[in-house]
Amino acid sequence: MSIRIDQSKCISCMRCAGECPGNLIWKRNGKAFLRIPEDCWGCTSCLKVCPVGAIQFFLGADIGGMGSRMTYQKNGHISEWTIESEGSRKTIRVDDRSSNQY
Ligand code: SF4
Ligand code: SF4
Repeated sequence: MSIRIDQSKCISCMRCAGECPGNLIWKRNGKAFLRIPEDCWGCTSCLKVCPVGAIQFFLGADIGGMGSRMTYQKNGHISEWTIESEGSRKTIRVDDRSSNQY
């Protein structure tokens, strides 16, 4: 698993770098980039803080199928996780007010 940062969307706020537990996201040419992709363990912390949805998370074949990618967007208290793969797109919505209740 790993992420990819869309440099054309990145606004250089570096929130992702502050959240990465492995200190894997640095700045290069004024934009965020993943320094050592193979060290990313897919915690998704960076996705959840990016205000412009510039980070894609690539899912392994055992989860979403090879080439599948996930993006995150927040709408108020609703977290939207969208998974795209060849010819399909699914969005899972989670109400943050009812999460972490167990
Ligand atoms: S998914 Fe987690 S480990 Fe990977 S770059 Fe983002 S914050 Fe760092
Ligand atoms: S959080 Fe998003 S917009 Fe901000 S630096 Fe990271 S990738 Fe770029």
